[in-house]
This record gives sequence, C-alpha cells and structure tokens, in this order.
Amino acid sequence: MRIGVMGGTFDPIHHGHLVAASEVQARFDLDRVIFVPTGQPWQKASREVSAAEDRYLMTVIATASNPRFSVSRVDIDRDGPTYTVDTLTDLKKQYPDADLFFITGADALEQILSWKRAADAFELAHFIGVTRPGYTLNDRHLPPGSVSLVEVPAMAISSTGCRARTASGQPVWYLVPDGVVQYIAKTGLYSES
Ligand code: ATP
Ligand code: MG
Repeated sequence: MRIGVMGGTFDPIHHGHLVAASEVQARFDLDRVIFVPTGQPWQKASREVSAAEDRYLMTVIATASNPRFSVSRVDIDRDGPTYTVDTLTDLKKQYPDADLFFITGADALEQILSWKRAADAFELAHFIGVTRPGYTLNDRHLPPGSVSLVEVPAMAISSTGCRARTASGQPVWYLVPDGVVQYIAKTGLYSES
C-alpha cells in the first residue's frame, strides 16, 4: 500500500489542502491519503487554535466524498504538541507494510530541518513538497533524494485568511467546501464574539 499523509492544523481545512492532496494522490498513484489534524501545534503556540474536535470534524466533512481520503485521530488523541516524527511513527505502526508519503506545502518544507528528529522522519516517509502561492519551493537544504517537489494548481488560500474573512463578515464560500462553510456558521467558529 502507498499511503499519503497530509498533516495540518486544518483551522479550517480549505481547497488548497484538498487540491494538493488530490494532485499528489494521482501523481504518485497513492492508494489513499490520510489527513491528520494536529494536536496543539508547537509552531502556533502563540495563537489560540480551535478545539481539536472542531478541526477534526471539519476535516471529516471536507474529505467524506472522496473514497481515497480519510482522517486519522493519532495526533489529536496524543497528549502534548504534535511532531511529525510521532505522527509517522504511529501511522507506521498501524500500517507496517505501507510506504508513507508525507505531503507538505512549500512554507512548511522551509522549516523542516527545525522539526524534532527530522532525520528519523525522513527514514519513515518519503517527503513531497508542493507549490504554494507566495512561497518558493526548493529542497536545497534537505537531504538529497529524500524529497520530491510537485507543482499543484495554485490556490492562494490560507486558513489564516479564512479565519480573518469570517471574523470580518466576509464569505468563505468556494474557499472551503460547502459543508465546512455551514459548520463554521453553525458553530460560530472564528466570529468575533
Ligand atoms: P494557517 O494560515 O493557519 O497556517 P494554512 O492555510 O497554512 O493555515 P495549515 O493547516 O497550516 O494551513 O497547512 C497544512 C499543510 O498544507 C502545510 O503543509 C501547508 O504548507 C499546506 N498548505 C496549506 N495551504 C496550502 C495551499 N493553498 N497550497 C498548497 N499547500 C498548502
Ligand atoms: Mg500554515
């Protein structure tokens, strides 16, 4: 089995995440892509991240229609901040015979060497860096052969932008899946109280 792993805060999940996962699934002939919402993310300790359960549910709603997409709770069920090496270790235990492909955007790829036990992470999965508007995709700083670079359809969408739009009353229709628009409205997520 060839399994893609798409980690993220997904606060909220948007079409940039989905198109990247879909493109890599097709390009690398992956059997499935598992979306893994983070626990409390260590890079984002400075801001309040939405409850894990809301981020998990939005990810389920967004991926439900794609038979190759699923969502894992490994990171949200583990205590403490999420490190990619732990995500990959847990998934490798669940799928010992699978080849793992960790999908990451150009911005996250830049920071990869600052990750905990980055060398071990490279042993556990092949890394796939995808293009993202506003960021330059390059693997010069990474171990040779450990990363593939892939151009995906450009989606100038960020979760930060979606949160800001919601807070100021602007629409997020067509930036996030319809069910996620409705989940945000129903729960009042990101609205200034
Ligand atoms: P935030 O603004 O809160 O940081 P985000 O939009 O960057 O949110 P994350 O959950 O931080 O979303 O990202 C998860 C993964 O998806 C990261 O690897 C990131 O680089 C990638 N990614 C996010 N948005 C895009 C996009 N528009 N195109 C390609 N990759 C993306
Ligand atoms: Mg981000």
